[in-house]
Parts: sequence; structure tokens; C-alpha cells
Amino acid sequence: MGKVMVIGCGGVAGVAIRKCCANSRVFDEVCIASRTLSKCDALKAELEGKTKTRITTAQVDAGNVAELTALIEREKPQVVLNLALPYQDLTIMEACLATGTHYVDTANYEPEDTAKFEYKWQWAYREKFEKAGITALLGSGFDPGVTGVFSAYALKHYFDEINYIDILDCNGGDHGYPFATNFNPEINIREVSAKGSYWEDGHWVETEPMEIKRVYNFAEVGEKDMYLLHHEELESLALNIPGIKRIRFFMTFGESYLTHLKCLENVGMTSIEPILYEGKEIVPLQFLKAVLPDPAALGPRTKGKTNIGCIFTGKKNGKEQHLYIYNVCDHQECYKETGSQAVSYTTGVPAMIGAMMLMTGTWNKPGVHNIEEFDPDPFMEALKEWGLPYQINETPCLVE
Ligand code: NDP
Repeated sequence: MGKVMVIGCGGVAGVAIRKCCANSRVFDEVCIASRTLSKCDALKAELEGKTKTRITTAQVDAGNVAELTALIEREKPQVVLNLALPYQDLTIMEACLATGTHYVDTANYEPEDTAKFEYKWQWAYREKFEKAGITALLGSGFDPGVTGVFSAYALKHYFDEINYIDILDCNGGDHGYPFATNFNPEINIREVSAKGSYWEDGHWVETEPMEIKRVYNFAEVGEKDMYLLHHEELESLALNIPGIKRIRFFMTFGESYLTHLKCLENVGMTSIEPILYEGKEIVPLQFLKAVLPDPAALGPRTKGKTNIGCIFTGKKNGKEQHLYIYNVCDHQECYKETGSQAVSYTTGVPAMIGAMMLMTGTWNKPGVHNIEEFDPDPFMEALKEWGLPYQINETPCLVE
């Protein structure tokens, strides 16, 4: 049917590219373009011969609009799937605009020198994308991503209005290291060391990092401590889900992870302020990333399951009701299938599905849109088909 260009060749891209190649009916060509060409070539060599999808590779600096534009013009994909880092969202969107190509990502833009993620920079492109007749689909990972699709699905099929959403992200996996992050360490640590916040009655309520803790008993995982974080989908869901009064996001962390993080913070290792070291400027957090285990190497070691989903409270025919939609994913099963653990898997599969929605024209809405603005039904069907089946509980335990 068409060609996708995947930018980035890390943990998430590895899964998305494998899934595109398994879906060669839709993706008859994939161009893997990233900073380190050897990684793209190695993945191509591994997949070629096992798929009908034709694979090409390219080296690109995704921070450089001219380079990206030239590459997109040469390769002519219908969709660009951005699986590099959030810092490159705007340059890739610019190149998509210049070439009239649809755009998909999984994380919202963050300036490299400020640990603050907001949609305002990407939403500013709405009119330009609309005029160009192309679609930018923002946040097509799991959270953001599937959590937005679950919200749109709950609203469409179960509620007249949704008043409360709690998004619960539980990773019950154990990789055996005292401290490692499950996706890009720099992005992950920026996210969890920032202040927390939630949306209530039309405004943000800010908390200290890890200030709000709850314990929840997750299906197929068990009881875990979880902490309230700021998370990007809160911002778009607050706008796109009518009747919403409060949205919170909780993520589970073990004691060892938090103790290491506190210690690293206390000694200044999580700082993004550049320092001079032996005459060279370095960013402590980037140095820390270099010494931590590579998330891509956690696959074979990680055992256990993830459980990510949303608990909704709202009204149907004037009566209050609850609904929990969630997915459980097994780290070892993911590894057997794609060579990656469940965190990359649960992001890479929806990234492929988002690209498929645009490639097939199933979703076609020129402009810049968050995922919950589209019809959730075909996406929910595709989740079942492509390895992330969901479960529904109409009498869930609520989070106080
Ligand atoms: P990785 O660090 O494993 O991969 C990032 C890839 O981008 C690497 O291949 C890297 O190249 C490449 N890259 C970085 N900078 C550039 C550049 N300037 N030009 C070209 N390529 C570049 O990250 P992950 O795979 O873990 O994460 C990918 C994205 O997914 C991130 O944006 C992350 O925030 C997001 N994510 C979203 C989730 C969700 O549920 N929505 C959950 C988890 C992650 P090189 O190989 O040379 O380092």
C-alpha cells in the first residue's frame, strides 16, 4: 500500500519497524533513518528475507530541517513516524510540512535545555498542517497513546460524560539491575524528577516530585506502590473529554529505584545544567545516561508483566458508573517476539498502528490532532490484532 519513514532506531523503533514488516500488506516499504546508520543497517539485515516489506536505510540528523526535507523528498514516504527523541519533534514536523507528508509521534516536544513538556509548540502548527492537507497525529504510543484511545472508546460506548480519569501505569517487571530505566534514561529521569501535577476543576494542581503515593492491586501483577506524576496526555484529555473534572496519572516505582534516584539527584547527577569537566562542557544527566544500562539491553533480563490502563468514572443515563480498561503485557513474551521488553513493545505497537491509521486513510483529518480526537474503534480492533489486547472491568477498585 505505501511507504513509511521511521526516524530513530532505538528500543521503540525496533519494535515498530518489526511490526511494520509483519504488516507488509499496509507497509510495503520502510525507510529506517537515524543518527547511527550502522544500527539501521543491522536491523535491515536481520529483517530482510523474513518480510515482504522492502527496507531501505539512511543516516540523518533529525534536528536539521534541510537534511530531513532532502531525505523525505528522496525517499517519498506517505507517513513519517518519529521515534527519535522529543527534542526533534518540531524539526521533523517542519520537514513534513515542507514535503506534504503525514506525521506521527509518541512524545510531545520538549526543549533540550528545559525539562518542561507541553503541547503548545506542536499545537501551534495546527493551521499550517490543515492548509497543507496533511495530518499530524500526536502521541501514538501507550501513554500517551492507547490511554487516549481508551478514553475516546469509553466516551463513545459507555458514558454520556466522563468526570474522572485515573491513568495507572504499572511495570511489574524485574531486570535484576539495582538501577536502570526502561526507556531512554535521559527522557525517563527528566519525567520522574519533575514536579507532579494533576488537572482538577479547570486548573493544574502542582505537587512535589513523588509527593502523592497510593497502593494499588494490579490484575496479573499484584500490589504495587504508585506515585502521581505529571504526564503529557493530561493536557490534551482535559481539553478533549467533555465534562471532565479531574485527571490524574500514577506510575509504579520500587523502593530501590526511588532510593537510587534520590541519591543521584542529591549529588547533582540528574541535572540538565551543563558543567565544565576537564575543560569540556558536559550535561550531568547525559553523562549518567552513558553509564547506565542501555534500555535495549534489558530485554533478555526482564521478567514479569506491565499493566497499563485507565479507570473512568462518569454518567450514563443520569447514573454514575465506573469502567477500567487496561492491557497486561508480559516482558518475556515481548522479548521472544521482538527482542525487546514490554515498555518498548507497548509503545512500538501503537506507533505502528497510528502510522497504519494514516497510511490506510482510516484516520484522515488534516491539522495537528491528539489521538483521542479520532474514532477509537479501528484502533481498538488493531490493538487486539497486533499484540496488545485489552480487558474491561466494569466494577474496578477505585483510587482514593
Ligand atoms: P532510544 O534512545 O532507545 O532511541 C532513540 C533513537 O533516536 C536512537 O536510535 C537515536 O539514535 C535516535 N536519535 C536521537 N537523536 C537523533 C537525531 N538528532 N537524529 C537522528 N536520530 C536521533 O529511545 P526510545 O526508543 O526508548 O524512545 C523513543 C521515543 O519514544 C522517545 O521520544 C520517548 O520519549 C518515546 N516513548 C514514548 C512512550 C509512550 O508510551 N508514549 C513510552 C516510551 C518512550 P542513536 O541510535 O544514534 O542514539
